[in-house]
Amino acid sequence: MATLVRNGIVLPMTGGTTAFDPGSVLIEGTSILAVGAVDELDADPRAAGAEVVDATGHAVLPGLHNCHLHSGLLRGTAESMSLWDWLKTYVDPAHRALTPEIAQAASLHCYAESLLAGTVSVVDMWRFMEGSATAATELGIRATLVPYVADLEGYDYFETIETNRRLLEHTATTAGGRVRSWVGLEHLFYCSPAAFRAAADLADEFDTGIHTHSSESIWEVQESLKQFGRRPIEEFYNRGILGDRTLVAHCVWLDDREIELLAQTGTSVAHCPCSNMKLSSGPARIGDLRAKGVHVGLGSDGEKENNNLDLIEEMKFASLLQKVTTLDPTTGDPWDVLAMATIEGARAAGLGDVSGSLEPGKRADLITIDLGGLHTTPVLHGRDFNVAAHVVFSANGHDVRDVFVDGERVVAGGRPTTFDVATVREQAQAAAEELFERRAALAGA
Ligand SMILES: [Zn+2]
Repeated sequence: MATLVRNGIVLPMTGGTTAFDPGSVLIEGTSILAVGAVDELDADPRAAGAEVVDATGHAVLPGLHNCHLHSGLLRGTAESMSLWDWLKTYVDPAHRALTPEIAQAASLHCYAESLLAGTVSVVDMWRFMEGSATAATELGIRATLVPYVADLEGYDYFETIETNRRLLEHTATTAGGRVRSWVGLEHLFYCSPAAFRAAADLADEFDTGIHTHSSESIWEVQESLKQFGRRPIEEFYNRGILGDRTLVAHCVWLDDREIELLAQTGTSVAHCPCSNMKLSSGPARIGDLRAKGVHVGLGSDGEKENNNLDLIEEMKFASLLQKVTTLDPTTGDPWDVLAMATIEGARAAGLGDVSGSLEPGKRADLITIDLGGLHTTPVLHGRDFNVAAHVVFSANGHDVRDVFVDGERVVAGGRPTTFDVATVREQAQAAAEELFERRAALAGA
């Protein structure tokens, strides 16, 4: 049966500042059948007998794409430390203590939180990801699973090219393509040239993407110059992993040549403004990257460096960070930031043909955002249209009312249909307590 999401303010994100106000979206099965003005879709014979979801007073948008996430359970526990101190003394010991069961509870928790806040798709770099696949399949979120692969001495507790291969064999694509696996590389300083070569070969063999981190802190650039005689993105190019199926998180400290290399090779970037501010990493050159045609999506980064997974809030930070660092108030335009959270993010994650905009034939990945709050008043139409600005600057993830992924209504009126919040929370709480006990025991050993 068809579903008509009716009489909302539809921002299809098909380019420019197009809006259908009032507008509707017609869904059948997993796909979008039609998007347009309310009257037009009311008269569409395919809408006859459709189940109606009343979107009056709501913004209707493509679901949001989180292009860089780490499932995890550490939020609020390691504050006010520099990036590398924090990794060495805090995050890595937690990795040593992680078990498959704890990892799965973390994914369940992070994916559930994401869905409730309007995120339909996550690129998650994590470990023991068979459990993440199970969590994503159960919850109904779109997920790209990327193991943290590392092979240099001292990082033997991470995933390996072999475990990445097993994940690809097990879960290259499942749940009708909704859950996919990619090849992961933790970091230039955690992985040998041989691991990079093996990762590129694995991505070719399974016809899939590669995800890694780079150029997050200025120290990394200095260290890369010292160790390899090249800046990090040049070293990536040298190691053969840049390309149109590669997505690199952060990319804060780039020079013009590195931006050129990303653009020439079609490599995409996941911009994580909250994390970059919180860890004092710095401001990425988002305007320069986008001006060269690089696809830039938004990422929350991990729960520990954000400390929530609210991409609506992330959009506001993305805009404000550009404004304050360029001292140019025309940067961080709401429509540009919305594009990064939707269609550009989908392209960056290799899902641009499937998701990220509301167009007939694409998968029905869409959300409604309630504009009835005091913080989103007034709602103005026509000449004074202010809904794109409301979504970016005034709204937050708690305003999300409906979430459809692949046509399935996984959040209805603010309530999840595929999971119980209290159960997810209890499991996450118990798993976190176990993780902290195990970490303390390992530290004492
Ligand atoms: Zn990260």
